[in-house]
Amino acid sequence: MSNAKFDSEGGQLMLQSSWRFSRQFQDSKANAEAAYAAWIKKHPSALTSFERMMDGAKGKKVVVFLDYDGTLSPIVSDPDKAFMSDSMRSAVNQVAHHFTTCIISGRRRDKVSSFVKLKNLYYVGSHGMDISIPSEAVKNSSVRRSEADQQGNEVIMFQPAAEFLPIMKKLLLVLREKIRTIKGSVIEDNKFCLSVHYRHVDEEDQDALWQLVEATVGGYSGLCITNGKMVYEIRPNINWNKGHALEYVLETLGFGSSSDVFPMYLGDDTTDEDAFKVLRKRGQGLPILVSSNPKETKASFSLRNPSEVQSFLLCLSKWKKSNSSM
Ligand SMILES: [Mg+2]
Repeated sequence: MSNAKFDSEGGQLMLQSSWRFSRQFQDSKANAEAAYAAWIKKHPSALTSFERMMDGAKGKKVVVFLDYDGTLSPIVSDPDKAFMSDSMRSAVNQVAHHFTTCIISGRRRDKVSSFVKLKNLYYVGSHGMDISIPSEAVKNSSVRRSEADQQGNEVIMFQPAAEFLPIMKKLLLVLREKIRTIKGSVIEDNKFCLSVHYRHVDEEDQDALWQLVEATVGGYSGLCITNGKMVYEIRPNINWNKGHALEYVLETLGFGSSSDVFPMYLGDDTTDEDAFKVLRKRGQGLPILVSSNPKETKASFSLRNPSEVQSFLLCLSKWKKSNSSM
């Protein structure tokens, strides 16, 4: 009898607790949805606002800048496996067929190019510090003479942190050895940038990893560390970022002070904010943040995830086809 009573009371307690948990879960979900709804009013969806947004592009030369990780590919646990889907590749290919298109990534240039696997666009690596533009696209006579790249193509190369390359190579070896003791840490060589990923590092070890990284990098002058999505980025501390790279590319293509250009930039991380700021300053084009969470940004519009980016790119190609006289 007493057991039956216990079971009944225990069952009721469990029911109450599970009801409370479910209620709390629903409340927090509702709060998150309300916060997103308030945020998206300030940064409307680039999909639902498409026609209105593109009104400003009519009669202008659209140039598309795309970040890679988190924009064209989902963020994955192994940075070497951030592959792009075939359908996304096809969408980017169509856009690059219609518009000048440039990928600006924190990755090393050859690596992001090996992920994207398209030849009809330009690649900028190392957070804007490794720029390569085919010579035939260059419209600005003041840029340096062209040179042959590894494939023998004539290109304009611009590497504003070239002098740091020996330091970065040395630091890569030292840092790789130092952080070996921290289980789950991964260091990625992005040429002018070293990325220390801590996504798989136990929470209690993350502080020790940070101390090691900070102390090791502190031994080299002229470098800085920024924090991205579960990654420390070590870079030359020069006044050059993705925003400068965007300006450099536009200038090289002959759009330095042109009012006839309509640049758009899609990116998901803190380093992309520099490019958003440049577009704001120029008063031209579209800064679009890829995020499913509300966050502080200089972007005017938003897309939730790479899947929405793909839809947006398809809309862009369709828009060009229906405005083919432009
Ligand atoms: Mg990104």
